Amino acid sequence: ATVEAAETSSVPHYGAAGTQKERTFIAIKPDGVNRGLIADIIARFEKKGFKLVGLKLVHPTEDFAAEHYDDLKARPFFPALVKYFASGPVVAMVWEGKDVILTGRKLIGATNPADAAVGTIRGDYCIIMGRNIIHGSDGADSAKHEISLWFKENEIADWESAVHKWTYE
Ligand code: ADP
Repeated sequence: ATVEAAETSSVPHYGAAGTQKERTFIAIKPDGVNRGLIADIIARFEKKGFKLVGLKLVHPTEDFAAEHYDDLKARPFFPALVKYFASGPVVAMVWEGKDVILTGRKLIGATNPADAAVGTIRGDYCIIMGRNIIHGSDGADSAKHEISLWFKENEIADWESAVHKWTYE
């Protein structure tokens, strides 16, 4: 989509929860990037039928990582989490589709990879909580907040997929 198209879209750039235009923020953490899992993770969301509408590689500062994880700042693991998240480039993405927030969390699997079902991203590719390779918004409010934190309006491509009618009835 052009910058103009993004600006004139009727959908807010963080999406409209509960519709086919629902959007979620997904980030491949520095361990996922370093371990060569970018293509595999993107393929899982693509093959499910979700639509990629935002994508960039960003090396977050510790300040930005702390802002992203602001709701966890009282937790004992917070300093280590911030260092981990700011330790290398992150693939920041916005994915769109019906129920993408909840279904995205299902594709990702439980926070602790030891509890994550085989077949989920964390269940298949990682072992410990402190290196669990991927982040996904956990609800409509956090999706809105995180998309707005990471992406400007003109960085979201509001495009229509050629296979839309083969994905939805
Ligand atoms: P999720 O990423 O599944 O939404 P949380 O929001 O609870 O999980 O936590 C954010 C991230 O903080 C986790 O993905 C994980 O990397 C890290 N984390 C959470 N709990 C712990 C813990 N007890 N020990 C170490 N790291 C943790």
